Amino acid sequence: MSIDGTYDQENIFAKILRAEMPCVKVYEDANTLAFMDVFPQSRGHMLVIHKHEQARNLLDVSVDGLGQIMASVQKLTRAANQALSPDGIIVTQFNGAPAGQTVYHVHVHIIPKYEGDLKLHASGGMADMDALNTLADLIKAAL
Ligand code: AMP
Repeated sequence: MSIDGTYDQENIFAKILRAEMPCVKVYEDANTLAFMDVFPQSRGHMLVIHKHEQARNLLDVSVDGLGQIMASVQKLTRAANQALSPDGIIVTQFNGAPAGQTVYHVHVHIIPKYEGDLKLHASGGMADMDALNTLADLIKAAL
């Protein structure tokens, strides 16, 4: 899929927002939702999405919506730092398939980084759900 296009109501994150698919939720406010990535690149890999904006990527989202996403990103990055004590934290997002985007609902990755341990984007296996829930609880406790 290209960087331009129409929003697909059937994308995975739209289904999560409609509760048609489960997620391991970490945080939610009036406008944003954060949940654990099920194919994590590291321990504590989270995604932050907007709940109301039907935006495919950074180019489509409103400035206000982007601000709401980034406010939650900062909150969760701080919580991940406190809860998991990583050596660093990558905050990133991808726009269009050639850039690495696979889900076309705008989202930001929070990827704690531990020395010598980081999988490449879209290279990890599916996480154990109990382990994801434990990590989510640790991060929630630090919010
Ligand atoms: P991107 O490749 O930047 O579009 O990121 C999409 C991310 O969503 C990837 O890191 C996937 O591992 C992750 N992902 C895909 N399906 C799910 C799901 N059902 N729940 C949580 N994360 C998912």
